[in-house]
Amino acid sequence: MTAATRVLVLNSGSSSVKYQLLDMADGSRPASGVVERIGEEGGAADHAEALRQVARDLDGQGLGLDSPRLAAVGHRVVHGGTRFTGPTLITDEVVEEIEKLVPLAPLHNPANITGIKVARRLRPDLPQVAVFDTAFHATIPEAAARYAIDAATADRYGIRRYGFHGTSHAYVSRATAALLGREPADANVIVLHLGNGASASAVRGGVCVDTSMGLTPLEGLVMGTRSGDVDPAVVFHLERVAGMRTDEIDALLNKRSGLLGLCGANDMREIGRRMGEGDAAARLAFDVYVHRLRRYVGAFTAVLGRVDAIAFTAGVGENSAAVRAAALRDLEGLGIALDPVHNAVRASGARLVSTAASRVAVAVVPTDEEFEIARDTYALASA
Ligand code: ADP
Repeated sequence: MTAATRVLVLNSGSSSVKYQLLDMADGSRPASGVVERIGEEGGAADHAEALRQVARDLDGQGLGLDSPRLAAVGHRVVHGGTRFTGPTLITDEVVEEIEKLVPLAPLHNPANITGIKVARRLRPDLPQVAVFDTAFHATIPEAAARYAIDAATADRYGIRRYGFHGTSHAYVSRATAALLGREPADANVIVLHLGNGASASAVRGGVCVDTSMGLTPLEGLVMGTRSGDVDPAVVFHLERVAGMRTDEIDALLNKRSGLLGLCGANDMREIGRRMGEGDAAARLAFDVYVHRLRRYVGAFTAVLGRVDAIAFTAGVGENSAAVRAAALRDLEGLGIALDPVHNAVRASGARLVSTAASRVAVAVVPTDEEFEIARDTYALASA
């Protein structure tokens, strides 16, 4: 009999389903792919159809969902609220609880739930696990998690800092400790996840103690299309003075702000090119992005007290030497010294880019959210 050592990871987003099949016995990844443009012209009609497409893709490669080697399915779920603080074996009751969290993540949780339902129908006998984007941040102390607003209102509506990108922050903080040759419990790490969405976290001894995203992924760093931090009064002002509706302001801050709003491009590569041509708007977008990043580096340095490493990850963090250099320029006073030569080298693995003398190590660590989800899933499914 073949051992069941494979985990199918499903990431059902608002308009796409990404999948990856990982073999936990040998670390191989026999299949991966994405079904895009769900609900759009030429794409799958809905998430159920997209999931059936994933099942067909896997079947076509002889790796179908009915394979006896499949041990479990791991589902990325964006919002776990305060109810889910770790990976959870999915039952009917768990699905109902995730449904109750839809108001907190109206764009994301419904897609995640459909993915779960379809996969459970296809393989009702298989352990399926929900891995939450918020869970790694459940350890953030109240002093950092609470907003200073009326407590009764906050409690009634679940208004607090939840944080996101948790699987990435968990994976990267652990991998950074390993790069330093330390146990996670012996390393304090600031993780800067800079993708299209971007967030920072402060991890003390493997435990998350602060993060930049809040009730939703809108707060914190400047992102591809999201503003990150703004004075909340900007919203009232736009309502009163510009006559904008709440949903219009929501779209403005989430979809037409950030780098895109500042200069018309949300890809850091294009911004770099345009800066090279002397484009002032691109320069400003870069400067605002970097300034915000430096603020969070400073804030989380104070939160942690002792910082052993700063880790850059995701599309911008892993690839943009210019962002890394600008974010950490002239911080020798904080014990941070980037090595310009190491920083400029393009490489794919986890690596140090600080000088030997730098008290704080600076690392570039490729994130691997699929691995993290598969690891959590396999651990629960084989427990
Ligand atoms: P997502 O958040 O969608 O998973 P990624 O982590 O893949 O995104 O990051 C995507 C972003 O990474 C792109 O929008 C682009 O700005 C940036 N990026 C990718 N490659 C490079 C590169 N070589 N140099 C600078 N930025 C890059």
